[in-house]
Amino acid sequence: MIAFGPVPSRRLGRSLGINNIPPKICTYSCIYCQLGRTIKMQVERRAFYEPEAVLRDVQGKVEKAREAGEAIDYLTFVPDGEPTLDINLGREIKLLRPLGIKIAVISNGSLIGHEDVREDLLGADWVSLKMDSTRREIWRKIDRPHGTLRLASILDGALEFASEFKGELATETMLVGGVNDGDDHIREVAGFLARLRPAIAYLAIPTRPPAEEWVRPPVEEVINRAYQIFSQKVDRVEYLIGYEGNAFAFTGDVEEDLLSITSVHPMREDAVSEFLARAGVGWAVVHELVEQGRLVETEYAGRKFYVRKIH
Ligand code: SF4
Repeated sequence: MIAFGPVPSRRLGRSLGINNIPPKICTYSCIYCQLGRTIKMQVERRAFYEPEAVLRDVQGKVEKAREAGEAIDYLTFVPDGEPTLDINLGREIKLLRPLGIKIAVISNGSLIGHEDVREDLLGADWVSLKMDSTRREIWRKIDRPHGTLRLASILDGALEFASEFKGELATETMLVGGVNDGDDHIREVAGFLARLRPAIAYLAIPTRPPAEEWVRPPVEEVINRAYQIFSQKVDRVEYLIGYEGNAFAFTGDVEEDLLSITSVHPMREDAVSEFLARAGVGWAVVHELVEQGRLVETEYAGRKFYVRKIH
């Protein structure tokens, strides 16, 4: 099955997924990959499915969803591997255009140094690129790239793509405790993002079983600090911590709403006060969440923040 869903996605609303390559063929073998270790590492682009077969499958799913009155916000290339390895990606995007639905590609960005890959991605409306590190040793440790890949070419390619792309560019940085979560390193990545100017930078944290058992999320204090450092350089920063609660759609359940908001970003003490005042309740509910170990109180630059408990 090439197309799946539509499934709710915090980033893309209702998204119809497109598996344009067979499972776990990737240019990376990230230590945190939830699909396990990469079965087949490769960097040469090639054809996997007939573009017409991709179109037929997606079209069938779109028709079914339309009959059922289900909305689809995005057609999203999000295979269990790296979507730009598909040499027909650009053609598939063109074939899908007449369906009249926006198109997204979630890529690790490893091939963005190649002009043909950039060309293909320019045809999409929303593109996400992985930015785990701007330092070679750390990049090699966390993403375990194919031996022929060069970080400098990826970073240059990303800048070039960002300068041409008319759609919405997102980045995704996975933070792994003790690997890429040092302050200096986070500052370096944030400095690069300031040049890239994505519409949104996501900070992800491993919450599902990773390829390597020893992988751990950073402690909450570090997760908050990373958010603050990124926010100084990028306009919009959000967490992706595997909690797809109904963020920002207030349910009226104060506890649930606090957990939803803090799964997207840390809340400063004054923002919490304001939220509680609007909801007409006191701080007891926050203290209880802290006691239950569901929220964590932490400090940054002399101010108190509330962060979602990760560990
Ligand atoms: S880039 Fe994605 S699919 Fe490839 S190894 Fe990393 S996490 Fe897994």
